[in-house]
Amino acid sequence: MANESTCFKCGKSLESDAIPIYKKLINRGAEEYMCIDCLAEYIQMPRSAIEQLIDFYTQSGTCALF
Ligand SMILES: [Zn+2]
Repeated sequence: MANESTCFKCGKSLESDAIPIYKKLINRGAEEYMCIDCLAEYIQMPRSAIEQLIDFYTQSGTCALF
């Protein structure tokens, strides 16, 4: 059973926004998650772009995951 508080790829502690953005971008039903750095590598986006997306979803208030 995966520990939800660490990245399953590198083992680093997850940022507080890593779980909702992973669900949003990769798999809404996921039970294990990547940290933002690994997610950025996985989806070939700069980390800064992911952080902008997180800000967008957080501020828009329209996404149930955030
Ligand atoms: Zn990681």
